[in-house]
Amino acid sequence: MNNYTVSGRKALPASNGRPIRRTGQRCAKVKVAEYVYRDPRGRELFTKIRYRHDPCWCNRDKSFAYTWRPAYLKNEWDLVFQKPPDADGYLYRLDELWPFIARGQRETIYWAEGEKDADEMARAYKVLATSHHQGAGKATPAQAAWLVRAKRVVIVADLDDPGAYCAAHRHNLLLEAGFRGELVIVRAAEGNDAADHIAAGYRLGEFVEVDLSRLAEAASRYKSNLTNNHAKYMGESNV
Ligand SMILES: [Zn+2]
Repeated sequence: MNNYTVSGRKALPASNGRPIRRTGQRCAKVKVAEYVYRDPRGRELFTKIRYRHDPCWCNRDKSFAYTWRPAYLKNEWDLVFQKPPDADGYLYRLDELWPFIARGQRETIYWAEGEKDADEMARAYKVLATSHHQGAGKATPAQAAWLVRAKRVVIVADLDDPGAYCAAHRHNLLLEAGFRGELVIVRAAEGNDAADHIAAGYRLGEFVEVDLSRLAEAASRYKSNLTNNHAKYMGESNV
């Protein structure tokens, strides 16, 4: 399970403006990664920070935070710990993808569910890879719109229920945005996600293709029954 949505977390009850601290119940956060988001020209927009919880009392093992520098802050080292208002309109590694999309080049864009997967794919396979940042099923039409002119998009689905939901959602977003290129959905040959696939030593061509017609069928119903959908297109039969 992933917990990308910082905003989706329940706030602790407030007491005199401060959260109530219960002894032994606070996770210790260790920063493990920083994902910098940029606009198509490479200008820095915001950073998403990934934390590992050690020790963890919340059972989520990880959490995320956003930082950015609003224009009213004068010093370049000043940051605010919040998500910028337009963050949901941007994709990870957009400055690398955009030149290829804008020129109409026939490059494949891999759209993973998280930044770690996108980074790993770019590093291991030297491909154009991206992700959204809000977690499973939370990608927006504005994010999908960046890829409308791409010639070929491969959606990398995490092999869990939220991942199935997310892949169907991204597939729909692309079609609704008017995407007319080649659209493929794949999953890891081993493990849950692209990073697992790579860590297990599999090649790029060894991702397992997920049947598109089954996905489309499942996508139309995914809101009503996630588990069912997952079984329908993540099952044994692959193209
Ligand atoms: Zn925790």
